[in-house]
Amino acid sequence: MMDTAIVLFTRDLRLADNPALTAAVSAARHVVPLFVHDPAIAAGPVRGAFLAGCLADLRAGLRARGAGLVERRGDPVTEVLRLAGELRAGHGTGGGSGAGGAGRGSGAGTIGVSCAADVSAFAQARQRRLAAACAAAGLHLRLFDQLTVVPPGELVPAGGDSYKIFTPYWRRWQAVVRPGTTQAPDRVTLPPGVRPTDGPEGSGGERAAHARLAAWRDSWESYADGHDDLAGDRTSRLSAHLHFGTLSPRALLDGPEAFVRQVCWRDFYHQVLHAFPRLTARPFKNVVEDWVDDPESYAAWCAGMTGVPLVDAGMRQLAAEGFMHNRARMVVASFLTKHLRIDWRLGAAHFMAHLADADVANNYGNWQWTAGTGNDTRPYRRFNPVRQGYQHDPRGDYVRRHVPELADLAGPVVHEPWKLPRSRTKGYPRPIIEL
Ligand SMILES: Cc1cc2nc3c(=O)[nH]c(=O)nc-3n(C[C@H](O)[C@H](O)[C@H](O)COP(=O)(O)OP(=O)(O)OC[C@H]3O[C@@H](n4cnc5c(N)ncnc54)[C@H](O)[C@@H]3O)c2cc1C
Repeated sequence: MMDTAIVLFTRDLRLADNPALTAAVSAARHVVPLFVHDPAIAAGPVRGAFLAGCLADLRAGLRARGAGLVERRGDPVTEVLRLAGELRAGHGTGGGSGAGGAGRGSGAGTIGVSCAADVSAFAQARQRRLAAACAAAGLHLRLFDQLTVVPPGELVPAGGDSYKIFTPYWRRWQAVVRPGTTQAPDRVTLPPGVRPTDGPEGSGGERAAHARLAAWRDSWESYADGHDDLAGDRTSRLSAHLHFGTLSPRALLDGPEAFVRQVCWRDFYHQVLHAFPRLTARPFKNVVEDWVDDPESYAAWCAGMTGVPLVDAGMRQLAAEGFMHNRARMVVASFLTKHLRIDWRLGAAHFMAHLADADVANNYGNWQWTAGTGNDTRPYRRFNPVRQGYQHDPRGDYVRRHVPELADLAGPVVHEPWKLPRSRTKGYPRPIIEL
């Protein structure tokens, strides 16, 4: 048996169905749950607050199991190696039980590191550095595929490195047999003398994710009919939990098919990013890009002041809530790239800065899909924001909720306020382009 396993949490901030943690608990006498606050990852205020809630709950859960969370600040690879060095030197291993034995092969003193495998260019580079550093230091590293339902790279089409079209991926994905989810470990035992970091406890994170899921299960049968209803807000709102891993995506597989299909889209984009980590910077398809430089229109789009009500409602929902309905995300992204002809990279960057669920795979995958440079089989499609408004917000309630200048207008005319005298639209701008 290994003496000590360091479990490096990244965006798998849960105790249940966390194979990296479960394996560490069964393979090692002592376990050090570690989270490293990495200053290289700029989480804006919304994501920062969400992350703080996740960590508060993780601390509480680990304390309840006899351990706690060790937290460091800096580069995760450096901090893992530093911690391993401290454990070897016997700092915090009390009685010298862990000191001196590491590197001698097996038995007391061996130290392992467990961590979730991830797919972005940043995460892949971090993993490579971690693997090299662990090999050099004689630490046994194990990476676990636990961020998605099916590991990225497991399903590969004949003659390719990844699926580029969703439907064939979905068919293969549905046929994969998945093991059930696992429970949180009952106990996590720190090495003698190791003190977890002080920090507030709270009930965000994993507990909030399970509460949200339990509440939403009651209505998920209406997902197929209701998920595009902008005002009804009838989607799960689990995306930030899935991003930070406070909920295992495998806990969602008993949902209705239309919903599970969306969970599969998440896997799909993760396998795209795994195979093509430059997705954040380069067009996925071999296309010539021709974007216009128009800072004024971009600023109007960011501020929700384009004069196109559904676009502005979406952008203002993002600013107010750190969330935007999927249908609105498609409409605002299409408007930026296909109407204004502004580079998808600018739109994606704005989303990354403001979404609580900002996720490299899902964000860049969807932006490229909408811009026509990615995985859409109909790359020239363009969403008409007025028609989308009449279709998915037929009473205009979504627009009224997010655009106060139009709140007093009755009915769906909110989607075309330019048909009304200016006096009735309270300073709301006229559209910045002809629709
Ligand atoms: C331009 C654009 C940018 C986007 N950026 C992000 C992002 O940064 N992070 C993010 O998680 N999602 C992103 N999405 C996908 C989708 O809009 C959100 O996942 C969804 O709106 C979150 O709400 P929900 O949890 O209520 O979703 P639900 O409809 O309840 O779906 C359940 C889960 O399935 C996954 N999912 C749903 N739709 C998609 C999709 N189109 N692609 C991939 N996964 C999906 C999400 O994890 C979601 O939580 C983006 C979509 C577009 C069009």
